[in-house]
Amino acid sequence: MNHQQYELTIGWLYPKLMSTYGDRGNVICIEHRSQWRGYSVRVLPLDQSSTADDIRSVDVIVGGGAQDRQQEIVMRDLQGAKAEAMREKIENGTPGVFTCGSPQLLGHYYEPGFGQRIEGLGILDMVSVHPGENVRRCIGNLVIKVSATRLARDLEEMTGSKPYLIGFENHGGRTKLGKVEALGRVVYGLGNNGEDGTEGAFYQNAIATYSHGPLLPKNPFVADWLIQTALRLKYQRPITLSPLDDTLAMQAREAMFKRLKVNSPTVAAAQV
Ligand code: GLN
Repeated sequence: MNHQQYELTIGWLYPKLMSTYGDRGNVICIEHRSQWRGYSVRVLPLDQSSTADDIRSVDVIVGGGAQDRQQEIVMRDLQGAKAEAMREKIENGTPGVFTCGSPQLLGHYYEPGFGQRIEGLGILDMVSVHPGENVRRCIGNLVIKVSATRLARDLEEMTGSKPYLIGFENHGGRTKLGKVEALGRVVYGLGNNGEDGTEGAFYQNAIATYSHGPLLPKNPFVADWLIQTALRLKYQRPITLSPLDDTLAMQAREAMFKRLKVNSPTVAAAQV
């Protein structure tokens, strides 16, 4: 099959309610990096007007952050057949990137600063609790070293160096992981809870993170991993993406490593 014929549908979770922190950039990044390679892309909002079959039809899922109130509205909608479809997709290996409020909803529950506990989908073995409005939010730049075994291996294979992700976190909730693997170890910033050094979670092919940024433009190789994983699953054949010119993104990463005084993994790899 000519790669021009590849088609990718991006499912975007509740764009009106869950795009408070610029996570739309993740959708744009996947969309453009696919189009630059000649694939045809459709962005499908998954919201109150969508059906379970809409959820089943997507190849990659993007979920952004949200305020507590919006998360409650989303969880009231994501019930029954729609919840089942989400569960099926993630269990069956559909890749996705879920930021901040979205992973809180994929966990067992999220307890907001005020009001009632919001029950989650329980797909990720983790819980999130907001300690109250008087406790400082976790806000600032974030650098993590990917520790999720399979993802770290894939990314290292793609880039030739140990994968470090740069982002920006802004959350009140603190997340504690159960049996699910962390996405990475915090190198700079606070991550899941500011205590145990973990950041995010990785389950099947779902990447959960507190990193806004948005994440993918700052770490374009993760966008490519999502695209590659989605196409391999859809077309059931080995697919390797053609390289793109990421010079500017890589320069921006180096500038951030320098500013945060984090040893650059790329420079270190080049010196070996
Ligand atoms: N409302 C959640 C929290 O404060 C999520 C915030 C977000 O998505 N940035 O933890």
